[in-house]
Amino acid sequence: MSEKFARRMGTVHRSFIREILKVTADPEIISFAGGLPNPELFPVDAMAKASQEVFANIGASALQYSTTEGDAGLRAIIAQRYANRGLTVDPDSILVTTGSQQILDICAKVFLDKGDKVVIERPGYLGAIQAFSIFEPEFVTVSLEDDGPNLEELEVAFKDGAKCFYAVPNFQNPSGVSYGLEKRKAVAELTDKYDVLFVEDDPYGELRFLGEDMPSVYSFCKKPGILCGSFSKIAAPGFRIGWVVAEKAVYDKLVIAKQASDLHTSTLAQAIMRRYLETNDIETHVELIKERYGRQRACMVEMIEKYFPSDVSITRPEGGMFLWATMPEGVSSMDLFDAAIKDKVAFVPGRPFYVDGSGENTLRLNFSNADEVRIEEGIKRLGLSIDSFLK
Ligand code: PMP
Repeated sequence: MSEKFARRMGTVHRSFIREILKVTADPEIISFAGGLPNPELFPVDAMAKASQEVFANIGASALQYSTTEGDAGLRAIIAQRYANRGLTVDPDSILVTTGSQQILDICAKVFLDKGDKVVIERPGYLGAIQAFSIFEPEFVTVSLEDDGPNLEELEVAFKDGAKCFYAVPNFQNPSGVSYGLEKRKAVAELTDKYDVLFVEDDPYGELRFLGEDMPSVYSFCKKPGILCGSFSKIAAPGFRIGWVVAEKAVYDKLVIAKQASDLHTSTLAQAIMRRYLETNDIETHVELIKERYGRQRACMVEMIEKYFPSDVSITRPEGGMFLWATMPEGVSSMDLFDAAIKDKVAFVPGRPFYVDGSGENTLRLNFSNADEVRIEEGIKRLGLSIDSFLK
């Protein structure tokens, strides 16, 4: 059968994280591996009510096919929420998508020919690496520092004919790193100067529990960029509702690519999400999430300081769902993973986030999906695992 597969599928693998999630299904394992929001914070009752109201009020139309662009009321709410945060966005420039993951797929279809140079962060978001890989680009990576990408490396990559730069400037998955204000401006300047299409993926930007909110890089770009958002982390991922903001020419192409992919995002899911947003205060809900994740992150950092050997360094994210640990050179987090599973604790080894095969000594820890009791116990187990592994 293998000779029948398209050549492009030869270089793409199943998501390593989704595979790990199978191993960690054992309830005795404390898992910091998945990228799951805390389900205790899903607005189950409010969604149930919104759902009943949708069926009672607009049942038939919520079950009908609809436009590719998405529910007009929902797009207006998304635009209003941007306006509340100081960014003017025309609702007609918003395309509702099946999760923000779909944007990566349709962007790749619209922009990438085989061999095109795509710049990504190192480490980079695995879902983007997977979505782009199918279209066989050449990945160029720039190292991520505490306050964003290394600008010299970025400029070299841009000078070398990069077509686009895909980045997660807020609380990046996997590293938790957020760009500082100066780097945001500098990245926008560079993308303008070298005419590189900037794709800003921002599913975590609203989840800042420390420090000051910052403008998007997109808002500093003079040439048109692409801004991606999602309800997955501020409401619930099961709805699979994301959105992309793009200027007209790009928008029209994205619509074509989406039509070919799924015609439109679930009408029912959009109707329920819209009703939920119209009848609930999502800002209060987001505050609740931030407060909880802030506590969980604080607990994880405190426990790491207590239980990890001192030569393991970590990022200290001001928001989002992940932090990143770096062990001494030469230590393999893949091997540590096997040892840690025996000790009933899981994480994601860092290497899959590096397209160049480096990052052997790094790992990602998720802090959104475990309460403080489990975080303390899990980090204690992991600390012991690392200790005996390093000896
Ligand atoms: N981008 C990033 C950076 C992510 O971490 C995720 C979720 N793992 C996504 C996009 C996709 O999210 P969704 O499709 O649920 O909106």
